[in-house]
Amino acid sequence: MSAGVGVDLENLWIRFGDFVAVRDANVNIKGGDFFSFLGPSGCGKTTILRAVSGFLDPSEGNVLIGGKNMKGVGPNKRPTALIFQNLALFPLMKVWENIAFSMEIKGASAAERRKRADELLEMIALEGQGDKLPSELSGGQRQRVAIARALCAEPHVLLLDEPLSALDLKLRQHMRTELREIQQRVGITFIYITHDQGEALTMSDSIAVMRAGVIDQIGDGKTIYNDPATPFAASFVGENNVFRGKVKQVSGDRVLVQSNRSGELLARVSTANVGKMKEGDSAMIFIRPEALELAKTGTEGDHYVSARVVNEEFEGNVFNIFMEGDGGKEIKVSLPNHGQSFDSHKGETMTLRYDVKNAVAMPAGVLA
Ligand code: ATP
Repeated sequence: MSAGVGVDLENLWIRFGDFVAVRDANVNIKGGDFFSFLGPSGCGKTTILRAVSGFLDPSEGNVLIGGKNMKGVGPNKRPTALIFQNLALFPLMKVWENIAFSMEIKGASAAERRKRADELLEMIALEGQGDKLPSELSGGQRQRVAIARALCAEPHVLLLDEPLSALDLKLRQHMRTELREIQQRVGITFIYITHDQGEALTMSDSIAVMRAGVIDQIGDGKTIYNDPATPFAASFVGENNVFRGKVKQVSGDRVLVQSNRSGELLARVSTANVGKMKEGDSAMIFIRPEALELAKTGTEGDHYVSARVVNEEFEGNVFNIFMEGDGGKEIKVSLPNHGQSFDSHKGETMTLRYDVKNAVAMPAGVLA
């Protein structure tokens, strides 16, 4: 099996007429990594993938694969293989013939093709199923066959464009684990495109969060979730409560914000924004629903929030409390269910406590 190689995007710009689809992207993907581009529909993810695979020429900048500049190198000369959302296996070919299709084009004998197909079937945990037709497999199994077919050509980089989006929810979740396992077994670089943050967080070594042609942040899942660089990254990945206000005081990576509705809040400036906030600036503070807890009555200070409870729901693993927040937006609080009884507080004003390290501040900006 071929080894994974790195992929670098250097000052990559892609324009369609006057429209900028990708704006100055700089990304270094390590060989053998599972790397995801995560962002909403239309943000430019597929366009980047097309530039890596060679189906689209960048307007400016470079794509390097394994350190080599790909300028002028056509798609079939690149060490990449592409898997789309709609897999399109050949319905009248057996599973093993589908997998070994790229070898058939190159003139390999039936025996060679079968041998290779059987090896790949073992890798995707479908040994013994080679003589079936695609229609005799489940959706998830067909997905694995499509991956095996792409791997048969021994690419160094596998490009996957929302490959799970046609599957139902349960299968999609199951396939996350499968895909990650296959990637680790094969050891090649996977570049994965998705608008689903759950997929990106569970599978990736590293994630690029994209918004309108711009890469907002690159990091591992924990960093993106716990230390977002922009309001967009904070609000697109996972749930987050946002508190808006003006900076009152800055001290190192701590900032005191006079919020519009919830009093003075103390927060930690996110790493990417340390040194970029000053008194009087508009600020946003993000606190996740699970980072808020009920405080004892009477307690308050700069890491407490008071708000009126407007709604409550029981979700099994958590109790959710919805409170009146900034600008008509709700504040959501998720309290873990430890089997305790839960008293309703509807209509009451409650005090909530948070750890300052879990309240992430940054200059105000565009939300998802
Ligand atoms: P999705 O998740 O919906 O596939 P995406 O993030 O992959 O979205 P892209 O397909 O990369 O988005 O498209 C980015 C933007 O570029 C979109 O606004 C799209 O309309 C535009 N675009 C893509 N291809 C072309 C083209 N050939 N000509 C003109 N505009 C294009």
